[in-house]
Amino acid sequence: MTDQPRPESPGPSASPFGGLKIDFGAGGGSPFGVLSIVGDDASATSLAGGPVTAVAGGAPTETKVLIVGSGPAGLTAAIYAARANLEPVVIAGSAPGGQLMLTSEVENYPGFPEGIEGPDLMRRFREQAERFGTRFFDLDVDRVDLSGRPFRAWARGMEFVGQTVILATGASALWLNIESEQRLRGRGVSACATCDGFFFRDREIAVVGGGDSAMEEANYLTRFASKVHLLHRRDGFRASKIMIDRIYGNPKIEVHTNTEVAEVLGDQKVEGLRLRDARDGTEQSIPLEGLFIAIGHRPNTEVFRDWLETDAKGYLLPHKHTASQIHGVFIAGDVADHRYRQAITAAGDGCRAAIDAERWLESEGIAEHATQTAW
Ligand code: NAP
Repeated sequence: MTDQPRPESPGPSASPFGGLKIDFGAGGGSPFGVLSIVGDDASATSLAGGPVTAVAGGAPTETKVLIVGSGPAGLTAAIYAARANLEPVVIAGSAPGGQLMLTSEVENYPGFPEGIEGPDLMRRFREQAERFGTRFFDLDVDRVDLSGRPFRAWARGMEFVGQTVILATGASALWLNIESEQRLRGRGVSACATCDGFFFRDREIAVVGGGDSAMEEANYLTRFASKVHLLHRRDGFRASKIMIDRIYGNPKIEVHTNTEVAEVLGDQKVEGLRLRDARDGTEQSIPLEGLFIAIGHRPNTEVFRDWLETDAKGYLLPHKHTASQIHGVFIAGDVADHRYRQAITAAGDGCRAAIDAERWLESEGIAEHATQTAW
């Protein structure tokens, strides 16, 4: 993690993410530096990658490959589809870039031995997709019609028509949704131990949750932190016995059951927690420097649920490889994956989905073979 922008980092006035302003301020001692991302709806469709040609109520924007989502999965699919001359269109969302836009330094993405800021990594993905002719629309999809080819999607009154569709809308971490937590996100509050744990070396921190994710993250974080408080709102855990045993067997972890976070203390960075006993409401404050929320994720699948199969938690269910049960509709990344949830696995999925889409277009006589594979 760095406090200062890297030379290639976009400045606030040169955001490649349309209306998303990225402000890398001075560190101020925060373990995340000061990274604030501010949505600006008014400029959400002005892009570095070329003018937006669709207008609300105007002619539909047509493409062979329509990609919904602009995290590592969607953008990798775009790179592959664009290089196969399929001229993809990406409906990128009003806050493009996916979960990495809310991450500080990424140190486990191969090819960046020095690490790279999450937003900077996504800027590079996007530039690479644009270089080969991908068109971007920084809009949220309101509705889709997947009843037959061509497939249709609508976003803020604009219509998009695709011979094939790749769904890569990702998942969002669940938050406690208390004001102080939201204010200190990126300033000591995180939802990703793999991304941010390293920055808490020799510091005291807490993890919230009672499922396998919370157990796994608490254990993982003891590699760095001097002490980890595991905070769970109930007596009983959802996590598997082996994970619970591991927690209780770890001398660096202190378990607090029946414990809720009433407030994250601190102005510019996390300085402590005000905790509430869920049984009698009594409160106590503890000083610490980091808070990891591990209470689950929500897949961004609301607009697809009438069309595609989902599991009990709402994740899309691919049928074969990246294909959904609808011929011509493909699925990539965290929208279907609650197991790995890594940028690199999502990117790999995006590649697979683009190749599967290309093969499908070829089999339908819509596109010619471009990407070489062994089959
Ligand atoms: P999860 O199993 O749904 O657990 C979420 C936990 O967060 C629950 O304990 C829940 O408390 C708590 N929680 C939810 N909302 C809360 C709130 N507003 N305030 C405080 N606490 C809240 O989610 P997960 O742990 O992310 O696991 C998801 C799936 O992935 C599970 O199937 C899990 O087994 C799997 N997974 C497996 C592994 C592994 O095997 N290594 C690792 C990670 C995840 P309550 O219990 O009171 O509802």
